[in-house]
Amino acid sequence: MFARAQALISETALAGNLTALARRAGARLLLPVKADAYGHGLEAVARVAARHPSVWGFGVAVPREAATLAALGLGKPILLLTPPTPEEVRPLADLGVRLPVASVEEADALPAHARAHLKVDTGMNRLGARPEEAAAVGRRLAERGLLEGAYTHFATADEPDLSFAHEQLARFRGVLAHLPPVLAHAANGGGVLSLGPLPGLGLARPGLAAYGFAPAHLRQVAPLIPVMTLRARVTHVHPVRPGESVSYGGLWRATRETTVATVGFGYADGYPRNATGRAHVLVAGERRPVLGRICMDQFMVDVTGLNVRPGDWAEVWGAGEVTVTDVAAWGGTVEYEVLTGVGARVERVVEAEREDAEAVGG
Ligand SMILES: *Cc1c(COP(=O)(O)O)cnc(C)c1O
Repeated sequence: MFARAQALISETALAGNLTALARRAGARLLLPVKADAYGHGLEAVARVAARHPSVWGFGVAVPREAATLAALGLGKPILLLTPPTPEEVRPLADLGVRLPVASVEEADALPAHARAHLKVDTGMNRLGARPEEAAAVGRRLAERGLLEGAYTHFATADEPDLSFAHEQLARFRGVLAHLPPVLAHAANGGGVLSLGPLPGLGLARPGLAAYGFAPAHLRQVAPLIPVMTLRARVTHVHPVRPGESVSYGGLWRATRETTVATVGFGYADGYPRNATGRAHVLVAGERRPVLGRICMDQFMVDVTGLNVRPGDWAEVWGAGEVTVTDVAAWGGTVEYEVLTGVGARVERVVEAEREDAEAVGG
């Protein structure tokens, strides 16, 4: 109730994407649900994904996410994908959260009930032990009985040229050869789509692809459907006369009688302000231009000739004619940033629930 904008989360699309990606990877999935499940809502996504047979567990970026997820009690492993501070180690281990380890000192500092994934830096140069040091770290973890997994992260797997990804994979395999058998994982979504099954690697970590998006050159590889539809309420409909301008700075000026609808979604909700002058939305099933500056809480759209009233929905993006990919392009950014930018004012609604709610509400 009261929300001006809703992110409708399609259970069907998410489950279908997970199935397609697990099949393509030939592996189970460690589903990244960091950043509020890429803006889709951590709890809703985790509950749906936890029921999917191909989901082994979840990946999160920060301890707060790990704690929130652990509190849901979904019974699936959670891996923290960034190093904990020394004070965070024990409380996270107490919650059962798997921890990344990149040095012998970190391995030695773990409590005896911790479970660790050796993190190997094969070329991203962000986190992890260098390959020449990683095997010793892994063996130390194994000696202590704490080694559950080992992983690395690709820097360029979503690009057409895969030579560096193959180099990273060879370095990772070189480390795995010196370890006892572990749950190994490397591929992000780009890696899953471009490299396919990686023998010996039991898990894959597709994030953006699980939410329905692939780089243009990989779209044919797996049938992915955008999980989120973003819709916002029309709050006001009014005529604008020829010569008048709309929104801050008067960037757009009417050349004819125009019917303008104001919609309750703005850059504070995650609509890229830089999409001004390019953005389109769907109103009454038609693709219509956003007029003038996108504001903090609102934007205006040309609805001339359409039967639109306050309370109607405008579709800002979805699986149809206007996608997050379009919005990201208009805003000069990427799908990741648009999705993770969806604000706290936007209500997340799992699609089955929405149908129930509408049935109840008549
Ligand atoms: C975010 C993240 C992923 C997922 O990446 P996508 O490009 O969204 O598939 C995988 N692994 C790690 C370590 C990550 O941080």
